[in-house]
Amino acid sequence: MSRTTDRLLVNGRLVPGSGGTFETLNPATEEILGEAADATAADMEEAIGAARQAFDSSGWATDLALRVRCLRQLRDALQRHSDELRELTIAEVGAPRFLTFGAQLDAPVADLGWFADLAESYEWSTDLGRAEPMGIPSHRRVVKEPVGVVGAITPWNFPHQINLAKLGPALAAGNTVVLKPAPDTPWCAAFLGTLIAEETDIPAGVVNVVTSSDHALGAQLAGDPRVDLVSFTGSTATGRAVMTTAAQSLTKVFLELGGKSAFIVLDDADLRAACSYAAFSVATHAGQGCAITTRLLVPRAAYDQAVEITAKSLRRIGVGDPKDDKTLCGPVISARQRERVESHLELAIKDGGSFACGGGRPADRDRGFWIEPTLITGLTNESRAAREEIFGPVLVILPHDGDDDAVRIANDSPYGLSGAVHGTDLERARAVAARLRTGTVSVNGGVWYAADVPFGGYKQSGIGREMGVAGFEEYLETKAISEGVA
Ligand code: NAD
Repeated sequence: MSRTTDRLLVNGRLVPGSGGTFETLNPATEEILGEAADATAADMEEAIGAARQAFDSSGWATDLALRVRCLRQLRDALQRHSDELRELTIAEVGAPRFLTFGAQLDAPVADLGWFADLAESYEWSTDLGRAEPMGIPSHRRVVKEPVGVVGAITPWNFPHQINLAKLGPALAAGNTVVLKPAPDTPWCAAFLGTLIAEETDIPAGVVNVVTSSDHALGAQLAGDPRVDLVSFTGSTATGRAVMTTAAQSLTKVFLELGGKSAFIVLDDADLRAACSYAAFSVATHAGQGCAITTRLLVPRAAYDQAVEITAKSLRRIGVGDPKDDKTLCGPVISARQRERVESHLELAIKDGGSFACGGGRPADRDRGFWIEPTLITGLTNESRAAREEIFGPVLVILPHDGDDDAVRIANDSPYGLSGAVHGTDLERARAVAARLRTGTVSVNGGVWYAADVPFGGYKQSGIGREMGVAGFEEYLETKAISEGVA
């Protein structure tokens, strides 16, 4: 694996990091997988320069046929290496194998083709026809153009999904990109960089992949005036820092941030099915998904029964080796993340909560970063466990007093990323869904995740949308051209 994963991609060349290398770990075993290239500020400087040069001087921005061909080449190259990538992803991310057949790998790779198709069919120019503003005969057109150089900064939880959900539309639109992945998952990005260099015709400088152990390179990318758009996914705190940095040069920002999404069970729902589904959701990938529903809102009269069903489901799910087909809940990414989750669990107890199941590390695992699927009871929506993003397999269960109260509690959050509603009367469930102030909502288990569905947040969950036509258009500028006519 070392040849393909310990290089940066800068200006079309696979080069070592000027800072040497840093280790990447398997979170399930704490085994050192190997070395990743450790870029310095000088490497980032060169990568941004290369992306600027490629945008300003190559034909990439205007050659739609080349872009479409290259995107399909990249998809095909990733698919050719999918077995190797799958094992790498399971090892480096701790991602359960079953997820790699969906959002952790196969789905975002296939979605590159969707962006290629979209670019081919997109209406790049709209004729607004003739008009006489202020009496001057004019023929007007509106054209769409790439924004320019995109600085893409990504987290570790779904590395391929997030790297490709930025790269796909950014390249389809004609931009050039500097990708700075999270220090926890450098190999996933480095592998992508190697395939771009070795198995596609993407011109030099169009994509640069800069792995580093140093978060400061993200800030450097966000603050460089040669960057035209910062596309960031990560925590709300870092997103705020990115926006502040980018504000100095008034660089456009696109932010996908944290969440604390509510799963509402209405009083006519099948309680057992709904609570089991909520348990399944929060345990998936050890809860390390920004849109995972982490507050379970149940009718007050059914609270005790809901606690029993949900705790039983979470206990049955347990934790498992991510290599195993049947595992739902693998490890969390790092010792630091485990500490972060544990400190939230302590706060839950301090705030008067208790654990109906879980509450710490599983007794039978002495290596790896594990947290048992946990259900917290006895808290209100004002508690820190109900307000703050924990990013672990931790669910807070809260009682509600009917549909209006459930909507009030769900919306009483600084976040607005996603939500779920379960109820037998579909019109009633739809009415509740319509009142949620979130970017996506699932009704009765509907799955919104797909290439053509825009994803993003209200409030402190972000600015802008990823994927879908709306996600593509984040990477475009609008230019109006008016020609004087006789
Ligand atoms: P993070 O915010 O710590 O880091 C994200 C990226 O930002 C990393 O590449 C990091 O190196 C970089 N970074 C750190 N400091 C920076 C700075 N000052 N300026 C610029 N870049 C900087 O997030 P994480 O811990 O890697 O990921 C978990 C978080 O990501 C969670 O909060 C989760 O909700 C969020 N997330 C959101 C979405 C979404 O689409 N809304 C998707 C996945 C994850």
